[in-house]
Amino acid sequence: MIRLHNANVIAHTGECLSHRDIYIEGGRIAKICESGTPRPGVVPTDTVDCASYFVSPGLVNLHAHTAMNIFKGIAEDVSAETWFNDMIWPYESRMTDRDIYTGTLLGIAEMLNNGVTAVADHYFGEEQVLRAAKDAGIRMDIAPTVFGMAPDYRDRLAQVGAFIRDHRSDSPRITLRFGPHSDYTCPGETLHEIVDAARRMGLPIHLHLSETKLQVAQSLERTGKTPFQRLHDAGGFDLPVLVAHGLWVTENDLALIGDDTWFAFCPKTYLRLAAGRGGFFDRSNRLNYSFGTDGAASSGSVNVLEQARLFAMLEKFERNDATLRPALEVWQRLMAGHAVFGAGTGKIEEGATADLVIWDLQTPDTMAYYHPVSAILYAAGSANVRYTMVAGEFLKYDGRLKMDFAGVAREAMGLQKELLARGKGRAKVYY
Ligand SMILES: [Zn+2]
Repeated sequence: MIRLHNANVIAHTGECLSHRDIYIEGGRIAKICESGTPRPGVVPTDTVDCASYFVSPGLVNLHAHTAMNIFKGIAEDVSAETWFNDMIWPYESRMTDRDIYTGTLLGIAEMLNNGVTAVADHYFGEEQVLRAAKDAGIRMDIAPTVFGMAPDYRDRLAQVGAFIRDHRSDSPRITLRFGPHSDYTCPGETLHEIVDAARRMGLPIHLHLSETKLQVAQSLERTGKTPFQRLHDAGGFDLPVLVAHGLWVTENDLALIGDDTWFAFCPKTYLRLAAGRGGFFDRSNRLNYSFGTDGAASSGSVNVLEQARLFAMLEKFERNDATLRPALEVWQRLMAGHAVFGAGTGKIEEGATADLVIWDLQTPDTMAYYHPVSAILYAAGSANVRYTMVAGEFLKYDGRLKMDFAGVAREAMGLQKELLARGKGRAKVYY
């Protein structure tokens, strides 16, 4: 039994309450009461004095290639085509299990350090991704990537099916789904086949759709359909779908998507790769969305708060209207992403799963603050995340990560040198 004593609470709505004692047991919020309310017979094993702290639900990252933290900074200031074809895919083709495991741990460390309690991962090397997630304790939804145009596509699809069968009940913190890479890398019937495999196993899917204007134009040229139309015609929207990006979603696309379609919006990647102002911005109020980070090789970080911050400011800047995307609205969008994980997280209430952040806003970064949500959205960094908790377990405690980060960093520095020395291989697909 953990007691967060005399806490200030930031709800998923952004509403704030003071003087609460929050009791956590069995991974859940067992009891919330006025601070100091006697609870005879209840003896906490750990009490955190939260009188000067704020407790909120954790942050969620709806789209990451977590292992790509091993490539952070490897391809900067290049076009999307160069980034994929000449840098990332050739290096990825020679990745080892150690690269994937350590890269994933690096990404998880960055996320936990910044208050991210859950991540929807989309990558290959799923055995290593799963192992890293379990070792670190973060909540992770894993979508093993399948490229429909790869020469080993059929074997790969069977391999992913077997992985999911073997591991779908491993841990309450792990959920699995199918991860077709994108419409443009799954031509012809392959997209349909992957959707069918997901349907047979009763699982959702997670894929890249309409990230760039060029992708939509090429899809229309090759197939006469937008990427969303292709997924719809493959039966994809009969299942819950996590759409990475959808930046260039069209008006007609909106009629195709389901109530359980979620968008992971990653503005920092769009800014860095000059993806343009797609239709998402003006249609977002009619969509379920929250934020993702994409991989650290394109976005530079997997701290989802930064994405929300940029989203709020982009709208103000581009439309010359500082009243757009107020902090509370952006906070609510951040919190809404918890729905994707279906784990009972995202609220500070009795019975909720205890995926929480304890914020210290009395730091040089955030003082003096007038509203904690604005302070977090516009000023906070990892130093403000004092504690990160997943399923009632502290994974960052009093400012320190529970994992041996120094060991992970040492391993990563060695792997980074090996990776460069090994050089580039042949990419399976071209962007
Ligand atoms: Zn991505």
